[in-house]
Amino acid sequence: MSVTSASALHYPWSDAPAPGQTVEVAPGVLWMRMTLPTALNHINVWALADGAGWTVVDTGMHTPSTVDAWNELLSAQGPLQGRPVTRVISTHMHPDHVGMAGALVRRFGARLWMTRLEYLHCRVLVSDTGRPVPPDGVHFYRRAGWNDAQLAGYHEKFGSFGRFIDQLPDSYRRIEDGEELTIGAHTWQVLVGQGHSPEHACLYCPQLNLLISGDQVLPRISSNVSVHPTEPDADPLSEWLASIEKIRHAVPNTTLVLPAHNLPFKGLHERLDALARSVHTGLTQLLLALREPQRTIDVFGSLFARPINDPSLLFMATGESQAHLNHLIQQGRVVVDHVDSHQAAWYRAA
Ligand SMILES: [Zn+2]
Ligand SMILES: [Zn+2]
Repeated sequence: MSVTSASALHYPWSDAPAPGQTVEVAPGVLWMRMTLPTALNHINVWALADGAGWTVVDTGMHTPSTVDAWNELLSAQGPLQGRPVTRVISTHMHPDHVGMAGALVRRFGARLWMTRLEYLHCRVLVSDTGRPVPPDGVHFYRRAGWNDAQLAGYHEKFGSFGRFIDQLPDSYRRIEDGEELTIGAHTWQVLVGQGHSPEHACLYCPQLNLLISGDQVLPRISSNVSVHPTEPDADPLSEWLASIEKIRHAVPNTTLVLPAHNLPFKGLHERLDALARSVHTGLTQLLLALREPQRTIDVFGSLFARPINDPSLLFMATGESQAHLNHLIQQGRVVVDHVDSHQAAWYRAA
């Protein structure tokens, strides 16, 4: 994810609620925040009044501090007034969004609501825990230009996806693009986006003029749009750009956006336009760089302002760079020049 300027946006609140506290952003819509043990140090999660209880949207990671925050929120005297969780909706499969889903649904006998690809993909990635690194994964990063020291980082990280996810429920309630969910007194439309994850659900409520955008639209950072070793030829950038268009048509600019990271904001269309512009700028710079053959790891300077110097950034930068390369390959504007003796692919403009 990279930091982008967002000067046209308006932020109605300058401060987020502390963990264990809530802020009411609309009638019956509560904003809560959980800490994350990562460089991106927080996630926003939401409680929607739902009859006698609450529908929770996104959950935080399964960490001791998030367990404490939920206990505080859900205590008899807590900000959620001792009312039960009636269902958990996860916008997508990433551990910060689904990590506590299992714990919450088991505690209240509730269901987990997710899109099918997010639920199934999450089960697949969690099942990698404890497996050795697959040859396909090594091949993917070697082809991107990683050396042996960098590949050692892959061996270390592989299988860590499930570390911050409490055991997922073995069944779920599927939600689909275009479906309307009645939650308390309001109707929320499921609006699926792609590119960041396979079937990411945003929730749009026209009556309240609110969009719970998950990681599909963020105000201050661009969402990670990456190619992963499981699908090395994927073109998630096409899906990402199509989703920007789709959301722009489906949701008005006046809507208050409730993103998973940073602060609620207004100015959705300006933000979507800026995100699309930054993709096109990156593609243009990348094409210029590819007048000479380059490996995936050689093009970081065309796409990222900051140096890629720690292992977690290397994963993200490699995946995002590969997404840009694959997009241009799909369009016939870039080709593989050759594969060298270390099995690294060198790309050039067509
Ligand atoms: Zn995510
Ligand atoms: Zn997230």
